[in-house]
Amino acid sequence: MRVRHLNCATFSPPLVGEVVCHVLLLETDEGLVLVDTGLGLDDYAAPKGRMGPTRLLLRPVSGAPDTALRQVEALGRSAADVTHIVLTHLDFDHIGGLSDFPSAIVHTTADEHAAAITSPDFLDKRRYRPAQWAHGPAWQLHGGRGDMWREGLTGHEVLPGITIVPMPGHSRGHAAVAVDAGGRGLLVHAGDAVFDASSYAAVAPSGRPLAKAPMLRAFEQVVGRDRLAIVRNHRTLRRLNEIADVTVLPAHDKRILDDLAGPRSRPQS
Ligand SMILES: [Zn+2]
Repeated sequence: MRVRHLNCATFSPPLVGEVVCHVLLLETDEGLVLVDTGLGLDDYAAPKGRMGPTRLLLRPVSGAPDTALRQVEALGRSAADVTHIVLTHLDFDHIGGLSDFPSAIVHTTADEHAAAITSPDFLDKRRYRPAQWAHGPAWQLHGGRGDMWREGLTGHEVLPGITIVPMPGHSRGHAAVAVDAGGRGLLVHAGDAVFDASSYAAVAPSGRPLAKAPMLRAFEQVVGRDRLAIVRNHRTLRRLNEIADVTVLPAHDKRILDDLAGPRSRPQS
């Protein structure tokens, strides 16, 4: 499986610094697969309706060329080549690109789908943006904790080598997405289960030391749903990342994206 690390949106929230949206583009036997989407074309065309007031806090500074769709096209492929999208959760900065790939099957946990769409509570109603799924994605929902996976964790293998590992805390149905990248080991896209990579690792994959990012941690606290679960998730991700062939990557820590992708997205195989 070939893996590309893409940045599919950049934000500049006050005091926090540059925040990226780390997306994986996988070339699989089942076609192209995205793990999260970042922002999509419609988000830039109609920011108010699509992203709501939270965009004023996050402050997107990227544009249409940064969307997953435009980056897929730059590789000579088309929207129809993306057959599956596997989501960590349904916050607007992770799913805005869904409408750019209307034929893809969209995988998420049943809990996250319920939180965002069928039974949102008061906080959820303010959190998610229904305009982003108004086109009617082909949802494939994965209920419960799933089967035994590894390290005492459970998961749903949604495609060969791609496993949704439920990790609620940031949102009610949040999950990590584990990708078996063959010779490159196991990549664990942690989504928003952790923001500051120094919460689970002393060094980046290249060995570069990771300083504590206090503002990113503060931001994580503001947008997280269950603080105790978030602390537990950090411990779990640290344990996973300490395994020799496992690389944990957060959605928003630019240092890890730069480390894995290089200055421009560089393919791994
Ligand atoms: Zn996020």
